[in-house]
Amino acid sequence: MDTACVKEAAIYLHIPFCVRKCAYCDFLSAPAGDDARRRYTAALARQIRLVGESLSQRRGFDGGKLRVPSVFLGGGTPSLLSPSEAEQVFGALREAFAIAPDAEISMEMNPGTVTAEKLRAYRALGVSRVSLGLQSADDRLLAAIGRIHTYEDFGRTYDAVREAGFTNVSVDVMSSLPGQTLAMHERTLAEVIKRAPEHISSYSLILEEGTPLYEKRDQLTFPDEETEVAFDALTHEMLAAAGYRRYEVSNYAKPGYACRHNLRYWQGGDYLGFGIGAAGLFEAVRYRAVTDRETYCAELEKAAPDLRALIAERLPLSLNDRMEERMFLGLRCTEGISKARFAADFGTDYDRIYGKITGQLAAEGLLAVSGDNVRLTAFGMDVSNRVLAEFLLE
Ligand code: SF4
Repeated sequence: MDTACVKEAAIYLHIPFCVRKCAYCDFLSAPAGDDARRRYTAALARQIRLVGESLSQRRGFDGGKLRVPSVFLGGGTPSLLSPSEAEQVFGALREAFAIAPDAEISMEMNPGTVTAEKLRAYRALGVSRVSLGLQSADDRLLAAIGRIHTYEDFGRTYDAVREAGFTNVSVDVMSSLPGQTLAMHERTLAEVIKRAPEHISSYSLILEEGTPLYEKRDQLTFPDEETEVAFDALTHEMLAAAGYRRYEVSNYAKPGYACRHNLRYWQGGDYLGFGIGAAGLFEAVRYRAVTDRETYCAELEKAAPDLRALIAERLPLSLNDRMEERMFLGLRCTEGISKARFAADFGTDYDRIYGKITGQLAAEGLLAVSGDNVRLTAFGMDVSNRVLAEFLLE
């Protein structure tokens, strides 16, 4: 092992472009032309190089590079990057960081946005995991939520991804969509299971203020609370029967295929964010980048960019913040929390901080405590937001 690489962090890259906005989406993404994409990619590559350089000059690194166990290209639609744009980004990454030889490198893709040539290029660059957004196998639902693709488009892209040699594929599905019935969701799950991806994420629609779907909410029929619970139950049941283990509130994987990058977030590990709006956590400081693309690109086009000007928020975490985060994020995972690790990381006894509330929630059947381990029960997972709120400290 290279002893200069004393520290490691995952990397998130934000690609803020989409063919068209989906009706429910409030992520930082927008349609843009080739020139805008090229300009952003160049800025992103420059930011990666500059941050890598500045980290390697710090004490402790001795000119070495930060070790990176996982990279996640999210968005937006990262699969809008042309092979040469992707090459630019990966070139910068490999120059600036010590990407682990077995790194998990995930890329989000939307059906219909890739060709066989693009997929081969991404794979040659090191992408090892593809995350495909399906949402539903029902074309009417896909149209109602403004997706750019049909179910058939998804099938073609899925097959192309497999043909390009990707052996770690995730598919996103959504429930609680307007007009969605249990039978529709069941069919979606059955179709996905038939294709046997290694990983499935299942999210409930959240109506975000300001989105077209939110504006139209009064003219639409959304599943009631009871049906939402039934959606969840159906998802667990069908995926468990097909050999997928739920390892986080919304994520299921075949053995050995849990997303390492996301597990790192939930376990409170360090990660660096690049691109507009990207969040990071490094050495107990949370930060978020500026969200304006022009500001971001213009700064990185200067002869000597000021990296601090790219950061919109910087929040050093207090001990209480870190303990709360450990609970909020750690309990989302079915593995739960280790009391011993909590004590080792925070220098304080778990039970002294959370013993009382843990006992109460366990008595209500929301938490399971066995020896060192504290985790949500299946019932606790269903109402996880309510349970997690109990771990806020004064
Ligand atoms: S593809 Fe994803 S990021 Fe783009 S608009 Fe749709 S939901 Fe948002």
